[in-house]
Amino acid sequence: MRQRFTARAVVVGDRAGTVVPDAAVDVEDSRLTWVGPAADAPDAGDAEVVAVPGVLLPGLVNAHSHAPMVLFRGQAEGLPLARWLREVIWPREARLTPDDVEVAMTAASVEMLRGGVTTSVEMYFSPERIAAAVGRTGARAVVATPLLPLPGMPLLAEQLADAVALAAAAPGDGAVEYGIGPHAAYTLPLPVLRDAAAAAREHGLLLHLHVAETAGEGADLLATHGLSVPALLAAHDVLGGRVLAAHSVHVDDGDLELWREYDVAVAHCPASNAKLASGIAPVRAMLDRGVRVGLGTDGPASNDGLDLLADVRLAASLARLREGSATALTAAEAFWLATGAAADAIGRPDLGQLAVGRRADLVHVDVRDLLFEPVLSPPDVLTHLVWSGTSRLVRDVWVGGRPVVRDGVCTTVDAEELRADVAERAARLASG
Ligand SMILES: [Zn+2]
Repeated sequence: MRQRFTARAVVVGDRAGTVVPDAAVDVEDSRLTWVGPAADAPDAGDAEVVAVPGVLLPGLVNAHSHAPMVLFRGQAEGLPLARWLREVIWPREARLTPDDVEVAMTAASVEMLRGGVTTSVEMYFSPERIAAAVGRTGARAVVATPLLPLPGMPLLAEQLADAVALAAAAPGDGAVEYGIGPHAAYTLPLPVLRDAAAAAREHGLLLHLHVAETAGEGADLLATHGLSVPALLAAHDVLGGRVLAAHSVHVDDGDLELWREYDVAVAHCPASNAKLASGIAPVRAMLDRGVRVGLGTDGPASNDGLDLLADVRLAASLARLREGSATALTAAEAFWLATGAAADAIGRPDLGQLAVGRRADLVHVDVRDLLFEPVLSPPDVLTHLVWSGTSRLVRDVWVGGRPVVRDGVCTTVDAEELRADVAERAARLASG
């Protein structure tokens, strides 16, 4: 099938912040075959023509999420991370069923699609049910099977073997990919992290873990081992291959140098880090050093949203406050962190930009709104998107050229029915 999209402008999602006014985008067999000014486009032939009045963006890529945690949204308001986990989240998760995960992920996936997020990296229980959920909504996911020493879960070696087997059985069609998600160095024995990393390298899988999220986590490990968390991971052969470290808030120059040396990517989660008062990650220093960085929402119980576009603005704001400089992160760079840079960070060069050869994940934002005026030159569209835009203006979304949101409504599943189901399950999990 061939499609020709035309729009007032296309935002490419590259580092430079390229905006193409009066643009056309051609899609064939779910891939982009042409992107540029409509006036220069090749003959559309028999392609289906989709003329949108607004701006086309690449589908946003959420580099770190535990989306089924919509079940716990708003719970434990005001608690710091350690108490939040121990007193509220873990007791509820102990009662969680695979059906709960699938329903919650389906609802969360709709929420993300409606906000223009077409791909998310998920780390949560029942990974095969997360895959089933995005199969229903039509989104994409990289699902890192969690490794955690919790009561009622199999031995860690068994969890790892299951994670590898699950990844091997996936169809490899670009919709769902599995990785390995050893939770963190402060929750798992180091030999388990080393074995998980070796397995991920052997099979080319994403290894996704939390690193240096809070100051306390690093101090405890430093006191025990005499090394920072990144140095500890390097010393135990955890780095190398396709590693994605969520957070990396409490890292110094030496740690960032290790990230560069081993090409470790960072999933930067500004909203979660702010809400839990974890700190502000040194994003400018990471980018200047050539470390790959993508933006993540983290779970919707610590954000509390899955609204990546809102986090783009927050990332730019916090980077500027941290550095005391209005140029510490430009609007173009901030948007790139949720698109092209995020795709690079998760090791998926087929996503994240409107560029020939990539997958046709497209988001139409209605810019017929005062929030998007005035546009005196093409880059103003991107500036408005970051500083005054809102995901509420996302009108239509296509994944691989297939429509999944039309006029603000998900076309693949019933969002209203899911909301009621999530509310009921969340009440059950909370009542214990
Ligand atoms: Zn997380």
